[in-house]
Amino acid sequence: MVRDAFSHVTTWVFDLDNTLYPPHMRLFDQIEVRMTAYVMEVLKVDRAEADRLRATYWLQYGTTLAGLMREHAIDPDPYLVAVHDVDMSHMTPDAALADHIRALPGRRIVYTNGSAPYAERVLAARGLSGLFDAIYGVEHAGYRPKPERAAFEEVFTRDGVIPDRAAMFEDDPRNLAAPHEMGMRTVHVAPDPHEADHIHHHTDDLAAFLARLT
Ligand SMILES: [Mg+2]
Repeated sequence: MVRDAFSHVTTWVFDLDNTLYPPHMRLFDQIEVRMTAYVMEVLKVDRAEADRLRATYWLQYGTTLAGLMREHAIDPDPYLVAVHDVDMSHMTPDAALADHIRALPGRRIVYTNGSAPYAERVLAARGLSGLFDAIYGVEHAGYRPKPERAAFEEVFTRDGVIPDRAAMFEDDPRNLAAPHEMGMRTVHVAPDPHEADHIHHHTDDLAAFLARLT
């Protein structure tokens, strides 16, 4: 039973974007547009070049912000405010997801490559406010992003997460590699499965998956 694979888990770590809301809500699309606009403005490049740079940074450093900081010494805070200033009026609460998260025994945290204030807004829009013991953004890892192991280590040390007693839920398969290496149970949350040794479980329905654990 899948439940047995999680019986040792005392801390539940959730990614935010495209994990605690489904990709069809397309919130991240708005952020992508704003990230491209920001790159165009600060680096004085056209859209095509901005998109090319963003793709390169994503591959090389994990996020657009990490690339901007490493290669152009961009100040992260104004960037985080600008790219996360998105419209959430189309987002809907998910009562079933809230119930199943609430039922998880132990500590529940959110860890996103976005900012914590942004995460708070998303959680409110999804009816998930108050369910988590802590919310960590990229600012809590010295602006180093997932998938860097050092980023996970900084956040987990800060929170007191014991990796081999914790589970990680994430849509980006890259961001499950370090957690797996550290001893966490890993769950890939996405419409399509991704075959990899560092992924223990896959689900296209987070609420349904959590329902099987409690
Ligand atoms: Mg995500």
